[in-house]
Amino acid sequence: MYKFLPEEVTKGMIVLKFGGTSVGTTESLQNVKSIVESLDSDAVVVVSALGGLTDRLIATAKKAASGDSTYIEDFEAMAKRHYDIIEDVVAQDVRRSTLSAIQPLLNELRRLYDGVSLIADLPERTLAQIVSLGERMSSVIVADMIPAARHENSLDIIRTEKWFDKNIASTELTERLIREHLSEGPYPVIMGGFISSDKDTGEITNLGRGGSDYTAALVAAALDAEVLEIWTDVDGFLTADPRVVPNARVIDEMSFVESMDLCTFGAKVIYPPTIYPVFHKNIPIRILNTHSPDAPGTLISDHSSANAAGCDGITNGAPTLQPDRIVAGISALKDEALITLRGRFASDAAKISSRAFNALSLKGLSPHLIPTCDSINSFSFVVAGSEAMQAVRLLKEEFAPELVDNSLEVIEMTRGLASLAAVGDNLRTVPSMSRKLEGELEKSGIRVIGTANKSSETNIAFIIEEADVTPALKALHAAIFE
Ligand code: ADP
Ligand code: ASP
Ligand code: MG
Repeated sequence: MYKFLPEEVTKGMIVLKFGGTSVGTTESLQNVKSIVESLDSDAVVVVSALGGLTDRLIATAKKAASGDSTYIEDFEAMAKRHYDIIEDVVAQDVRRSTLSAIQPLLNELRRLYDGVSLIADLPERTLAQIVSLGERMSSVIVADMIPAARHENSLDIIRTEKWFDKNIASTELTERLIREHLSEGPYPVIMGGFISSDKDTGEITNLGRGGSDYTAALVAAALDAEVLEIWTDVDGFLTADPRVVPNARVIDEMSFVESMDLCTFGAKVIYPPTIYPVFHKNIPIRILNTHSPDAPGTLISDHSSANAAGCDGITNGAPTLQPDRIVAGISALKDEALITLRGRFASDAAKISSRAFNALSLKGLSPHLIPTCDSINSFSFVVAGSEAMQAVRLLKEEFAPELVDNSLEVIEMTRGLASLAAVGDNLRTVPSMSRKLEGELEKSGIRVIGTANKSSETNIAFIIEEADVTPALKALHAAIFE
């Protein structure tokens, strides 16, 4: 193991995160055990729930709330899955104590399901309690599987606060608690990802679906780790989603900015907020495959391919590794909505954008793309489909005077769209790239509704119909990488 890093670099703290795809079966858990046991550094290991369990916990909760009594069978199947795994991976002399830790958690789950069924309702906080049991159980099992390991309860360490209707990490408090709980050995420490508790009420919360990556990043940043390793079920960060583009290949090295852009545009391999905490501390990330631990994976660091040109502004001039690579990868984000404000007033892009974005951000909404305008009297941007209705309502309030005096004629919304992005630090060096890629899409019969490459020079994004995502990714991948 650790052939990837020079000897002297491996001595500091390492944070490893194993996703559900790494802790789903006896076989993959055995791989996790051997990876952790072969470490020669202090390590904190963050684990997700058993593969697919979070989806199952949610589906069963919905079933119980809808009056379908077969939730009991689902619960029993989940309980059996945990018992079977314990039997397979935990040594016999520890098994009894593992079972006595898991049993109360399963009882709690059963009580929650029965309660949901009784009241025929699924309040958000109850759902958060239900889903937390996935990581609360898996982390105990993984800790008991590794004789030297110590278990820590993430609910005592990762704290959240309310931000509009979302729970977001309470970063300063969490950083302090991570240091208090995890700075001292014995190591390795095993803790559940994703789960957290509210800093004011103590209620169980979570960091959002896929949030175990973020837990690991918060830990890595607070402990000034040498590296954050994300162990998953693919050989690294790939040039595209391999489920859509089977020819996608591993990106050996990429910059923080490239990974951030690709994740923000839907590359599911890392949960987007994960990059920020480690980027700010300049802690490299490795994406590695639990099922193939010797594969080199992807290194994400500030060795940006654009650094040597000195035009990055946010990196520190580390050596250029791949000066010739223009596009690192492509990705797509579905369920997007395009909002367009039309009328005379929309021609003042600076004024309209500052008022529109201010009105939305004050309510916690985040427009994320500004396409090139199709006409001088229109101003468009993209928001997540789930935020579109609220965005239109807020804009109608904000621009009520202009709608009345007709300087704004209409605020339109189009749903069912997707953002498709090509990402690369060196894109800025090839101004014709946007036109070229658009041409490739058009050649494949894909209608490009809008193009956005002004907000960042490290990505070019196209707005297309959601139904076109698969052929569009395939066409761009073939044109760029094959
Ligand atoms: P985990 O359980 O390890 O967190 P996820 O399912 O969240 O795993 O993320 C890994 C999956 O992300 C891969 O199996 C792959 O199908 C998908 N994926 C999507 N886009 C990419 C990409 N660009 N590179 C690698 N994997 C990707
Ligand atoms: N178990 C959680 C989920 O499925 C968190 C994670 O796996 O990162 O979303
Ligand atoms: Mg994940």
